[in-house]
Amino acid sequence: MIPAQFDYQAPKTLDEAVALLAQHRDEAKILAGGHSLIPAMKLRLVQPQLLVDVSRIKDLSYIREESDQILIGAMTTHYQIESSSVLRQICPLLPECASHIGDVQVRNKGTIGGSLAHSDPAGDWPAVINALGAELVVVGSVGERAIKANDFFIDLLTTALGPSEILREIRIKKPQGRFGQSYQKVHHPASGFAVVGVAVTLNLGPNGSCESAGVGVTGVGSKAYRATAVEAALTGRPLDEQTIATAASHACDGIDANSDLYASGEYRRHLAQVYARRAIQAAASQVS
Ligand SMILES: Cc1cc2nc3c(=O)[nH]c(=O)nc-3n(C[C@H](O)[C@H](O)[C@H](O)COP(=O)(O)OP(=O)(O)OC[C@H]3O[C@@H](n4cnc5c(N)ncnc54)[C@H](O)[C@@H]3O)c2cc1C
Repeated sequence: MIPAQFDYQAPKTLDEAVALLAQHRDEAKILAGGHSLIPAMKLRLVQPQLLVDVSRIKDLSYIREESDQILIGAMTTHYQIESSSVLRQICPLLPECASHIGDVQVRNKGTIGGSLAHSDPAGDWPAVINALGAELVVVGSVGERAIKANDFFIDLLTTALGPSEILREIRIKKPQGRFGQSYQKVHHPASGFAVVGVAVTLNLGPNGSCESAGVGVTGVGSKAYRATAVEAALTGRPLDEQTIATAASHACDGIDANSDLYASGEYRRHLAQVYARRAIQAAASQVS
């Protein structure tokens, strides 16, 4: 399949990229790893007149620690996150999630920023970024702003990004104290995407009860979401079997579940509850 004709620009700075997007608005698309955009162009689901390749812009690919935060550049690849020894120490949920994405080729080329900006309802990163309560820093012609993960994903393939905005960085608070994390996923057998994926991060107090919880779910609805009812059912309670089962039963509260040839909405809801329970148990078992 061959995409419709398009122009191509590879700016060297973020300012140049923003100026191109501001000039061409809806006719332009950013090209990152191309693993979602190019297939969509080949199927002619999108037909941008201009591709703005941001891969030559310096300093969009990094993993840094800055006081109590982890900063990840939007062009950081899944593989860079998967193989980061720093992240394995301070926030293992990130490399764990990366290891679940596609195959080696996809992880080598695909970027965290591209995945978040694409807002695929079965993408893995949106669940994790919701669970971690991350902030997404975007830059546009009127300057920079930070958007909370929960407000970033609007709907199927739709985010809070404006037409001339570029996702520049993901900011995550470093987990502190006694914490445990897990990402549990049902892989689609053909694509590898999440039929359902649940990310959990927990903090336990000195008496073993849950001080705080972050839970993100992907694959169930039209966009990934933060499962606040699960978080509320865990917080302040000891993590016994009953508490975990009750909390996990809220994984799809208020969500209209997708149905497709592979999984009905009812099956997805069931999987989400089972995998929420597994993810909470696995996160709790990691607390030192
Ligand atoms: C065979 C295959 C299997 C896959 N399996 C999985 C899987 O199991 N789990 C999973 O989560 N994903 C999977 N993916 C998707 C993969 O993770 C992609 O890397 C990701 O979805 C998009 O990242 P990208 O860098 O390739 O972005 P691109 O395809 O280049 O861009 C995607 C979209 O985001 C926009 N965009 C990109 N970067 C930015 C930015 N910095 N700011 C604003 N907008 C931006 C683009 O304009 C485009 O609309 C798979 C892909 C393939 C081809």
